[in-house]
Amino acid sequence: MSSLFPALADGPGERVALRFGERSLTYGELAGAAGALAARLRGADRLRGAGRVAVWATPELETAVAVTGVLLAGAAAVPLNPKSGEKELAHIVSDSAPTLVLTAAGAELPDALGALERLDVDATAAPGAVPDDTTADGDPALIVYTSGTTGPPKGAVLPRRALATTLDALADAWQWTADDVLVHGLPLFHVHGLVLGTLGPLRRGGSVRHLGRFSTEGVARELNAGATMLFGVPTMYHRIAEALPQDPELAKALARARLLVSGSAALPVHDHERIAAATGRRVIERYGMTETLMNTSVRADGEARAGTVGVPLPGVELRLVEEDGTPITAYDGESVGEIQVRGPNLFTEYLNRPDATAAAFTADGFFRTGDMAVREPDGYVRIVGRKATDLIKSGGYKIGAGEIENALLEHPGVREAAVTGEPDADLGERIVAWIVPLDAEAPPAAEELADHVARRLAPHKRPRVVRYLGSLPRNDMGKIMKRALVADA
Ligand code: ATP
Ligand code: MG
Repeated sequence: MSSLFPALADGPGERVALRFGERSLTYGELAGAAGALAARLRGADRLRGAGRVAVWATPELETAVAVTGVLLAGAAAVPLNPKSGEKELAHIVSDSAPTLVLTAAGAELPDALGALERLDVDATAAPGAVPDDTTADGDPALIVYTSGTTGPPKGAVLPRRALATTLDALADAWQWTADDVLVHGLPLFHVHGLVLGTLGPLRRGGSVRHLGRFSTEGVARELNAGATMLFGVPTMYHRIAEALPQDPELAKALARARLLVSGSAALPVHDHERIAAATGRRVIERYGMTETLMNTSVRADGEARAGTVGVPLPGVELRLVEEDGTPITAYDGESVGEIQVRGPNLFTEYLNRPDATAAAFTADGFFRTGDMAVREPDGYVRIVGRKATDLIKSGGYKIGAGEIENALLEHPGVREAAVTGEPDADLGERIVAWIVPLDAEAPPAAEELADHVARRLAPHKRPRVVRYLGSLPRNDMGKIMKRALVADA
């Protein structure tokens, strides 16, 4: 297929492609380093077998060079989360069977990777040529393990076509160009930080500034220094919303950004509104998955409404279906169905799991996302939650956890909130609110919280049980692990 990164072969050699902390690489330097790595990978039969190469995803600069080099070599990269436990790493290594692991020089690797041939990435290689692309667009580019929010992580095989089409669709939706400078502080072993946050700018010929560890000060510094876009997960925007009242530099920085984008989980309405009030800017949300890359987004020239994830991206067919498979045709903001998608942005399979792959697709080739949503009259998609954990069937109603969580977060005594259902003899399921109070000594009473929700939504959406916690269990993307919450009850 045509090159994933045209700017590497014949782009602006002097422009900074990547900056991670104090270190940076121009396009010329990245072409040299990744091109040299690709040549090493292609030599000495290193890509034998399925041609998969594990990447120990730290530090970020070496990770970016490693993944780019693997893609230039025509192989598939398997990014590894350095914070994974031995058991999870051992599972990923035996599942994906890489021929070798790429790391930064001097990095210490855990025992689970001990049997793999190791190759150190040299991020300072002299400028050099980029090899010709000899791949087909269906060849695997990445094997990314899902976040493990609802079960053990599954390896999604992403073809080169999916990367190219999703990034070009986002360029269309976001008017994303070579002039854009992106700032983010996300890890590079999931789709958000790697595909969107790193390969995205490289495909456009633009720049990425990685903060290392996310901080609101870092965001303010980079945006005030001229970065144009910010990508973050909702926990980051929550920290921004909390910091804004005390930080005029941060407010100035967000006000001047071209685009503020949130994804990976729902952005609470309360945080969206607080940021809008303090900066005059609305965060836009996009919706995607490891398996599908990006499906919908608010467009750069569209209206960003809190709680909505915009419209299907170019090339993505999206439908909502009822439990029996009947498509929902209404755009009424009320009829809830499962989101199903089809398009060139999709993965090809779950690695080594033909049954799970088959179960994930309909007969006509749509992927069942497991996410439930409604469509508003203008076509905007509003996600109400995941089928498995966020849809509560109570008293004959189907209730989405998300709107109750949003209502609870508006209560001044609530710091964090999650809502689940549990079996109830009368109602089928009853609504349970898990609350992290702002003041652990004086948490808001259960009755008060239930009334607060009933006033904002409807009486049948009031939580019947309130449980108080010191913090919510979250994974490394800041997603609430509801199955851990329920298991601990
Ligand atoms: P696993 O599949 O292993 O349980 P996961 O589904 O969290 O984990 P990812 O592929 O990283 O793994 O996340 C995709 C999911 O994240 C989507 O199915 C959806 O539930 C959620 N999501 C992503 N973006 C948004 C968004 N903007 N609003 C609401 N939910 C979102
Ligand atoms: Mg999932």
